[in-house]
Amino acid sequence: MAQLSPLLKQATPVIVDHGEGVYLYDTDGRRHLDFTAGIGVTSTGHCHPKVVRAAQEQVGKLIHGQYTTVMHQPLLRLTEKLGEVLPPGLDSLFFANSGSEAVEAALRLARQATGRPNVVVFQGGFHGRTVAAASLTTSGTRFSAGFAPLMAGVHVAPFPYAFHYGWDEATATKFALRELDYLFATMSAPNETAAFFVEPVLGEGGYVPGNTEFFAGLRERADRHGILLVVDEVQTGFGRTGKFWGHDHFDLRPDIVLIAKGLASGFPLSGIAASKDLMAKAWPGSQGGTYGGNAVSCAAALATLEVIQEEGLVDNAAARGVQLLDGARAVAEKTAAIGDVRGLGLLVGSEFTTPDGTPDTATAQAAQKAAAERGLLLLTCGAYMNVVRMIPPLVVTAEQIDEALEIWADVVATVTGGK
Ligand code: PMP
Repeated sequence: MAQLSPLLKQATPVIVDHGEGVYLYDTDGRRHLDFTAGIGVTSTGHCHPKVVRAAQEQVGKLIHGQYTTVMHQPLLRLTEKLGEVLPPGLDSLFFANSGSEAVEAALRLARQATGRPNVVVFQGGFHGRTVAAASLTTSGTRFSAGFAPLMAGVHVAPFPYAFHYGWDEATATKFALRELDYLFATMSAPNETAAFFVEPVLGEGGYVPGNTEFFAGLRERADRHGILLVVDEVQTGFGRTGKFWGHDHFDLRPDIVLIAKGLASGFPLSGIAASKDLMAKAWPGSQGGTYGGNAVSCAAALATLEVIQEEGLVDNAAARGVQLLDGARAVAEKTAAIGDVRGLGLLVGSEFTTPDGTPDTATAQAAQKAAAERGLLLLTCGAYMNVVRMIPPLVVTAEQIDEALEIWADVVATVTGGK
């Protein structure tokens, strides 16, 4: 009998029968509050009726139209619709299937457009699992263990992860920018550097928001040296952070934006957005793929964008995000086991540490497991997997947040023994 490969590591033993909104129902009929949203994918909730309808209608019309051969309406309509929400000036789109592929596409474009070999990434960043995307990933050695050597030409600068350094935000930011300049002087000359790849909030790296001063420093250096600023919005885009784009919190102007996850409510679709001028510098035909811009995924994405607008999901993420962050902070105040709670919108992380700041992976994992047993699905993240993250679908209600926080308070009290 065939079995699933042990390459897959599953965080819970749940076998899902179906999903509806914020809930997943398992094969025993048990209901789970899904505060993972499939790592932020099910932005509009599981099986939103409008998304389901759009996909079903599209399946009956056209499933696949190879976009390197023919063009189809869902792709054109989605491109037009994205024009309403993309950052100013980023008016040219290329579509692929996964976040990793979007990263690969941006990497190719950046190298082709600048003629430079190197990229600079920020420590704790996650950009995917294909070998090139994993080469840009520094959120845990588990993402590269055993298959080195990785791609050459990648240099790593610090991210202003103030809690990790034990500094205030301003000190961490000053340090990060100073180290970036030092990196330019020692490792990757600016005129050899094609791009920065950065997340507005470190996602897999532990839910660490950047800040306005840090991003202004990156923008200034990008402009000064002709380096492209690639903002990876795969986890933070489409309202997740309580603004449409994660970088909207930081008054940042990207050169390339990467999109995936929340874009299509769970259908595989990703893309990169840049200016027409920049895209024109890519080598025509050097990018593409069999499934990129799949018609059903595009129809689902179009419906997703409409739902986000019609149901005010960005505002809901902002309001419910404050409720979730405040609630998680209140839980942390009752224990010495959670050293920091941070987040933006519906992307909230509780970092488990011992009182001296040492990462406490065991307690974080125990809390995640105990929550799953109580019907609250959560994930961990961070280099040490000691940050428990909460990312419910954007349709989550105040009552559902209260329900999750109640379980969370009980679970934390239990696994910490009230300490
Ligand atoms: N970038 C970021 C910021 C992500 O969070 C992820 C997925 N967690 C990726 C890229 C890779 O996306 P995918 O798994 O679809 O390849």
